Formats: sequence, C-alpha cells, structure tokens
Amino acid sequence: MSENIQNLVSVVIPAYNEEESLMECHRRLTVVLSKVEFEYELIFVNDGSSDRTLSLLHSLQASDQHVAIIDLSRNFGKEIALTAGLDVADGDATIVIDADLQDPPELIPVLIQEWKNGYDVVYATRTERKGESWTKKITAHSFYKLLQSMSNVAVPRDTGDFRLLSKRAVVALRALREQHRFMKGLFSWIGFPQKAVQYQRESRYSGVTKWNYWKLWNFALEGITSFTTIPLRISTYVGLMTASISFFYGLFIVIRTLTYGNPVAGYPSLLVIVLFLGGIQLMAIGVIGEYLGRIFNETKQRPLYFLNEYKPSKMSIKSRIDAKKHSY
Ligand code: UDP
Ligand code: MG
Repeated sequence: MSENIQNLVSVVIPAYNEEESLMECHRRLTVVLSKVEFEYELIFVNDGSSDRTLSLLHSLQASDQHVAIIDLSRNFGKEIALTAGLDVADGDATIVIDADLQDPPELIPVLIQEWKNGYDVVYATRTERKGESWTKKITAHSFYKLLQSMSNVAVPRDTGDFRLLSKRAVVALRALREQHRFMKGLFSWIGFPQKAVQYQRESRYSGVTKWNYWKLWNFALEGITSFTTIPLRISTYVGLMTASISFFYGLFIVIRTLTYGNPVAGYPSLLVIVLFLGGIQLMAIGVIGEYLGRIFNETKQRPLYFLNEYKPSKMSIKSRIDAKKHSY
C-alpha cells in the first residue's frame, strides 16, 4: 500500500437490466462493507438497461452517500461497463463484482485481507458451480484448457471477473485501451503479485443470464484472438502439410503412370481433393479474417464508451479532498 493512503475501497458493479437483483445487491454489499475498516464507494455502471435499473440507482444514491452512478450512453457489454467503472474508481483498492449476486459479497473481507498481505490482484476462484448445466461446465472447462495451452498468459481457470485490484493494478489496466477486451486475460496480462481465493459460486439471485452458447463461443474467440496468434500459425502448418502430402501424391502418380501406364483417372477422388483443399483454404482465410477484423476495429481508435452522466459518490469526493490535505 502506498504512502498516500486515502482509505477508500471502490466497488465496481456493472448492471444491465438488474432491477430485481439491484436492491439486494446493494443491501448485501452494504452489510459487508460497513464492517471493513476502510471507507467505501459503490460504483454502479448502468450499461444501457431498458428496465428500471437506472431509476433504482438514482433512488439508491439519494439515500446512500456511498453510491456512485455511471450511466453509459447505450449497452456496451459487460467488459466495457467494467472498464468505465475502473476508469473512475480511485480507491486504494478496487473490487469488481457482478450485480446478480453470483459472486458472494461476503468474500470481500478475505480479498481485502490478501491485498493487505501485499497482493495486487486477488481473484476469486469458484470450487463449484451451482445451477449451471453440465454442458456449460464442460465447455467452460475446455475453453480455459485450450486458452491456457495456446497463449503464454496464464488465465486462471474457473475464475470470473470477481476480484480485487490494487491501485497500481487499476492504473495499469486503464492504460490498456483496446476495443476487444477480454478482461480475464487483461487482468492476468498486467502481471503483479496475484493470489487466488476459493469460493462457491451461487446461482443468479434473480432474472436470467444474458449469455447463450453463441455468445459464449464468441467470447471464447475473443479470448483466443486477443491473446494468441497461434491459429494463424496452425493454418500455415495445415497448408504446408496438405501441400507436401499433395506433392508426394503427385510424385507417386507420375511414377505409377510411367511404370504401369495411365488407366482412367478417378473422378471421385479428384472431386474430394478439390473440395478438401477448398475447405481448408476458406478456413484459413476465415482465421485471417478474424484477426484482420480485429485490426480494423482497433485502427478506428474509437473511444471505448460514451457517458450519459457520471455522478460520483460523496465518499470519493471526500477522499479526494482528504488525499489532497495529506499530500503536502
Ligand atoms: N452485464 C452488463 N452488460 C451486459 C451484460 C451483463 O453490464 O451487456 C452485467 C450484468 O448486469 C451482471 C454481470 O454483467 O452484473 C454479469 O452478467 P451475467 O450474470 O449475465 O453473466 P454471467 O454471470 O452468466 O457470466
Ligand atoms: Mg451472472
């Protein structure tokens, strides 16, 4: 922890259509955080919700000076919502937690304890997934395995976004402005001493997850393409392999024709080979396209999000003034 301590813990909570969970989320966070020895602020990021989320947040802020509201101009997705929260979180430590109460707020004191022990990133790893189908468990598991084996960034398995970040980890994350934000990867990529804490993941408190398999597949693609270019290399090797096999096969045909003459050539085998090669080529172009599309998006250099409004908490304003007082 730095010299210039403000004694503030920021909590970033992305919320997209969470009207049913929001009050309970706020209540449980308040219970837990009022017991820790730090001041705290709850930064709710309204990610373009179409339900009553925003008006609930306004009423929360009216009655609780710990609440800050970031209202994004539309739905940008969880990763960007998180980023917006981290951009304004100026606590000595920042905790990222889902609004649906799948991450138990009760774990926060443990995260804070490990942070005080000197870790910069303390992430919560789930031991058990309640209320999730076995297919989701298996797909999630194999995704982490695949990612681990392909990239040189160790993305911890069975770990969501629920974690604590020290001030310098938050500052490091703020420097990463890429459009394609695979947060779990970014959290690991910044480095610094990291520590895992075990917990049991709950089912959603209310509502339904906004994830489906198509989204998960795209999420996996995002993870892989943001952290490794191995698929590009694989297509090179597959191309090389088919080319050399074809070469030897051609050689074989030439020799056979010279020694045995040329019987009627097989039309089906020809067709199979043409289709096979065509398929491989299209696949390789697709892989290149995935990367090219991302390059395209990054080169536009658009801002990550726009704000409708940001209403800071009284706590963060107060702590900024306090920090100034102590800084000479
Ligand atoms: N979320 C968000 N924007 C979105 C989708 C989700 O801010 O476009 C928030 C959501 O309100 C919740 C968290 O991200 O607080 C996790 O969402 P969800 O529970 O749907 O995902 P899962 O727990 O299945 O990963
Ligand atoms: Mg959830």
